Amino acid sequence: MLNIRILATGGTIAGRSEFSTATTGYKSGAISIDDLIDAVPQVKNFANVTGEQICSIDSKDMTDDVWLKLATRINQLFTGDVDGIVVTHGTDTLEETAYFLNLTVHSSKPVILTAAMRPATAISADGAMNLLNAVRVAASPASVGKGVLVALNDEINAAREVTKTNTITVSTFKSPELGLLGYVNAGTPEFYRTSTRRHTSNSEFSVDGLTKLPRVKIIYGHAGDDELFVDAAINAAVDGIIYAGTGNGSVHVNAEKALARAVANGIVVVRSSRVGNGTVIPAEQSYIDNHFLDGDNLSPQKARILLQLALTKTVNLTDIQRMFKQY
Ligand code: ASP
Repeated sequence: MLNIRILATGGTIAGRSEFSTATTGYKSGAISIDDLIDAVPQVKNFANVTGEQICSIDSKDMTDDVWLKLATRINQLFTGDVDGIVVTHGTDTLEETAYFLNLTVHSSKPVILTAAMRPATAISADGAMNLLNAVRVAASPASVGKGVLVALNDEINAAREVTKTNTITVSTFKSPELGLLGYVNAGTPEFYRTSTRRHTSNSEFSVDGLTKLPRVKIIYGHAGDDELFVDAAINAAVDGIIYAGTGNGSVHVNAEKALARAVANGIVVVRSSRVGNGTVIPAEQSYIDNHFLDGDNLSPQKARILLQLALTKTVNLTDIQRMFKQY
């Protein structure tokens, strides 16, 4: 039998409420990984399953420290006899942790993130089946080499493309435009496509020796925008700014002047988009003249992660732009 380790970080999948009808107002991360595994003993039919508590947080409070700890631990476990990892997580920032691990785990062995929208104590809680299916996906030879995967609600998505699309429903994780990778059909993981961008064993990024990550902030563009937040970022000497622009990463003329000052101060500026679909491509000549980079089709929150990792390697703008085309 394969060895699968479940690394628990908290979230609603480990949430507890006094009332079985409550789907809000519960405490995230209240149930330990051992109790979660005991509640779904069927996971042991597919692998030798062991649990490890990394932290017990609501994922809205996710930190760079937890990411570094998780990536380091997974890389360490994969040098031993662990064949696959399941990470239990809150849904709010799950896609960010998944993408961070997609770029920093150096193995083709499966890493699967799962979660729940309803607390473990709720009627029709989704966590138990999600956990069981995540173990099935982690134990499947078909999952090897596919990068970090997100398995919830009988669907399998790629870390790079998946996003939380609904604040409430259990069918919240989708890969808009590019689509899911596969399903867990009646207990069997089946894949139909793969994500083609560089990941895991083919990634140039590493957490080895890192104790913190570069500081990259997201600034959200809007009608009536001004230089306020960009100037605050310059004063705080951040390392990078993701500008979540309108349309094709369009930058408000008032913010643009401030962003040009940011670049002159050595801050890397990447244009992303608040639209949610499509690719940000070179547009205005002034963006090129101001040395703003293009964030490809990454969401602002994922562009932030790629820029953080890029800045651990280089401040060369040509090289960072190359990374946005490859990951
Ligand atoms: N706020 C919770 C979390 O992200 C939501 C959830 O898990 O569904 O930890």
